[in-house]
Order: sequence, then C-alpha cells, then structure tokens
Amino acid sequence: MIALIDGNNFYVSCERVFNPKLRNVPVVILSNNDGAIVSRSNEAKALGIKMGQPFFEIKHLIKKHNVKYFSSNYALYGDMSSRIIKTLEQFSSEIEVYSIDEAFLNISHVSKENLTEYGWKIKNTIYQYTGIPCSIGISSTKTLAKVANRLAKKSHKANGVLALYQNSHIDAALERVEISDVWGIGRQYAKKLQELGIYFASDFIQQDEVLIKKYFTINGLNIARELKGISCIDFQLFYKPKKSIIVSRSFGKLLTEFDDIYTALANHIGIACRKLRLENLDAQYLCVYLSTHYHKADFYSDTINIRLPYYSNFTPDFLKYAQIGLKKIFKEHKKYKKCGVVVFDLKCKSMLPSNLFDFRNLQKESELLSVIDKVNNLCGASTINFGDMFLNEEWKPHKGNVTQKFTTSIKELLICK
Ligand SMILES: [Mg+2]
Repeated sequence: MIALIDGNNFYVSCERVFNPKLRNVPVVILSNNDGAIVSRSNEAKALGIKMGQPFFEIKHLIKKHNVKYFSSNYALYGDMSSRIIKTLEQFSSEIEVYSIDEAFLNISHVSKENLTEYGWKIKNTIYQYTGIPCSIGISSTKTLAKVANRLAKKSHKANGVLALYQNSHIDAALERVEISDVWGIGRQYAKKLQELGIYFASDFIQQDEVLIKKYFTINGLNIARELKGISCIDFQLFYKPKKSIIVSRSFGKLLTEFDDIYTALANHIGIACRKLRLENLDAQYLCVYLSTHYHKADFYSDTINIRLPYYSNFTPDFLKYAQIGLKKIFKEHKKYKKCGVVVFDLKCKSMLPSNLFDFRNLQKESELLSVIDKVNNLCGASTINFGDMFLNEEWKPHKGNVTQKFTTSIKELLICK
C-alpha cells in the first residue's frame, strides 16, 4: 500500500507555525516579485481568491477582508519540507519526495485494518514535530493514493486521513472525482475526455483499454490501470542524476546597466555552482541568457553557450566566463527584464576525464569551497560570497513583505518576549 502525504496549504501553514496570529484568518503567499498568488489559506479560498491569480486583481479583497499577505520565503518552506521528510523516515524506508509539500510512502508492511490508524499516527507525528497540518491518502497505487488524498482533504468525515482499499469504497470515490482532477490528466486531456462524455474517473476506467492507448498514449492507459488498482507508476526511490541546472529570475525592476545585470547573473551562478557541489557534480558548459520584457514591442533576447577548458564547480571559473559571455550578448539602451544561467554536460567527480593541461590547484579550490559552503549552510545562504555578487542590489526580485528565515539563519531566529 502507498500513502501520499500532502502538506495543507503548505506555504501558508509554514508561516502560521511561526506566527499564530495568522491562524483562522485569510492568508495568501505571493510568487517571486510578488506577482501572483501561490498559496492560500482556507479562509482566503472562501473569499474566492484563485490559485495563480495576479496580486493586483485581489487588492480590493485584501483591504476589505484584511487578508494577510507575504512574499514567498523559500528558505523557510524548503527547510520545513525537509523536516517533514525526516519525520517520515520513521514510518517507512521507502520514500519518494514528489514535491516540496508531497511525498509518497511505501507502507506495505501495514495490515489493511490498521491503515487508517497508521495514517493518523503519521499525521499527528508530523504535526507534533513540525506544526504543519497534512492530509494523508492511502491506497494500492499512487494514482489512487492521490484520489484518497483529495477526498481526505474534502470530506468532513475523513478529516484529513483516508485509506481506500475496499472495492465498494474505491468505486464510490471514483464516481466523485472529476476527470480533470485525476493525477496526470492535464488540461488538454481533460478537455478531450469531456468532449467524449467522460466526466468522472469512474467513466474513464470503463473505457476500452485499446482505445485509451490509441487516443491518450501509454500514459493515459497507465492512469486508467492505476485507477483500477494495477500499479504502473513505479516508486522513484533511486535518485536520477541531474542533466543540467537552471537558475533564472526576473529582476525586481527593468535594468539597463551591464553591472547591474552581471551582479544578478553572478548570484544565479553562485546558486548553480552550490547545487553542483551539493550533488558532487562538475560541469563543462554554461549557457547565459538575457531578455527584455516579452510583451513589449521591441522584445530582445539572446543566449550564448560557453565551453570551459575543464570540468569545474568552482564558482570563480564560471563567473569569469559568464562575464565574457554576457558582454557578447548585452546591448546598450535596452530595458532588461530577466537573465539566467544553465550549466550542463554534468559529470560526477569520480567520472571526470583527466586533463594533461589542467594546472589548477584542485585541493586548494575544494578546501576553500568547502569552508564557504559550511559557513553558508550554518549562517545563511549569502554569508560568504564572491565579490561579483555584491556589486549592487538593483536586480533583486521585489519582495515587499517577506518573513524571517526562522529555521535556516542564526540571525533570524524566532524571538519570544
Ligand atoms: Mg499541498
């Protein structure tokens, strides 16, 4: 059996852990640059605020109903997420982290009659250890666990935990789940299915498998089978090494100066290289890109690929070449909106080819980086960085109302008076 654990209104719940005044009132979290809504409390949902809705559209609701709003604080959400995963380790050795607020757990060791009780044990322990309320759906396949999770959240009777294992219960559940809400059925598929008169998951599983495969490929067939209780989507227990790492952000305002843009790029490179080191990878290529506002008439964008003379994860190497690359694609008198970096051709340290003309002092580089990474992990992400990253702050995404890092920076701990 598989359990899907899903943090309720996750970003809002993280904020509520550290600020109890936010409980029982409408709260929303905003995306990068405070552009759109990315998380809503139940009270905010009840006001009709939609997921992804632009912030400016709901400003009148914010005022009228005193909705609390915050810029997203990913340092906090990421850390709370890893605390939940750590907690889950005591319930199963097979965990697939699906997203920042969702994880699948193999709980085949639990007997059917104890599933609900086990689900409650997981839910209560997560709440006790982290303060985050979760919903838990349990069933025989991942897709059915998703269905169970959805109903666990919606049903007053389930109240957050639902184990679907009896056939009659599964049938009743599938009759309640709209086809557009089934895991893996995208908007396009849902539209096509509705045109064919298939509105609910129960309608979908009654269709001929050959026809499903013909119109909706093997993915559609796998979904139908999973809904019938036949497991087709494997547990991703093993970590797949990354093929590339992308870091890009829109600037907080439009930028025209080279130095401002290069500072942003340097910070993106800092993040990309830190990710490389976390996974013990080196890269030989980087791609730098730069663009103006997409919706403006004189839209301009360009990219440049650069091959380093050797594989590396040493931030200064990438800074040096990125600066040369950026100079080639940067044009004066333009208002830039975004820049980014992709590092690719990644190789595990142990798989690196040796290079006769490589005169770097790798030992020294790696010692330096390991000290920097240790300090930054301990004291906050940018405690020590390379000079290019501090030139100015013009580029920084707009974050009008961000809370403290609470759990990842010693300078931002919660203070109780
Ligand atoms: Mg969630």
